[in-house]
Amino acid sequence: MTLLINEIFTSIQGEGTRAGRLCLFIRTTGCPLRCTYCDTTYAFAEGRPMTQGEILEEVTRLIGPPTSGPNAPFVELTGGEPLAQAGSPVLMQALLDLGYEVALETAGSHDLSLVPAAVVKIADMSQCWLESNLDHLVSGQDELKFVLCSEEDYAWAKAWCLDRGILDRLDVLFSPVWGKLDPRWLAECIVADKLPVRFQLQLHKLVWPPEKRGV
Ligand code: SF4
Repeated sequence: MTLLINEIFTSIQGEGTRAGRLCLFIRTTGCPLRCTYCDTTYAFAEGRPMTQGEILEEVTRLIGPPTSGPNAPFVELTGGEPLAQAGSPVLMQALLDLGYEVALETAGSHDLSLVPAAVVKIADMSQCWLESNLDHLVSGQDELKFVLCSEEDYAWAKAWCLDRGILDRLDVLFSPVWGKLDPRWLAECIVADKLPVRFQLQLHKLVWPPEKRGV
C-alpha cells in the first residue's frame, strides 16, 4: 500500500480539544476542494510516494513507540484531504494496531463510515459536506469544526447547529480564519448568545509565523 505524502513532522497540536499536546502529523497530498481560506495549498500537489511500512518507520523514528495516558503523544492524519487516498483508512488502522492514539482532520466531504471507529475524527464543515457523516461522528470522541470567515458565517453556523440539535451531543468548534474574522468579535458573540461551542484559535499561528510549514 503506497500513499502520496506531503510531509511528516512533530509539533504541538494547535487546534481542537487536544490543543497543546505533542503530536505527529502525517500530511497527505491532494484535495478535491478549494476552500477560499485554505492555508495548506502547497499540499494540493507536492508530495512523494511512501509505502505504509516507510510511513510507520518514520512515525516511530520521530515520535517513538506508543505510550498511554491523557497527554501521550498522538498521531494525526491531515492534508490536503487524507480520505482522498484509498490507503488512508488502512494506514490509520495500522497505527491503531501499533497502539497509537490516532486522529483524522478531514473536510467531511468523504464518507466517514470508512474510517476505523477508534480514530478521533475532526470534521470540518465544508462546501461539499456529506450530511450522512453526522451519523458517523461519535459523541465524546469526535469534533465538528466550523472555520468562520465573516459575521455571516457565524450566523449561518449557529443556525445550522441549532436546527439540527447537535450542540447537545457533539463537541463543536468555532474557529476564526486568521486575518479575516476578529477573534474578539467571535468570542463576544459566543458569550452573548450563550452558545455552547468551543471557541478556538490556531495555536501554531500564534507561536510560529502563520505561513511557516511543518509546525
Ligand atoms: S478541505 Fe482543507 S486542504 Fe482542502 S482546500 Fe479546504 S482547507 Fe484546503
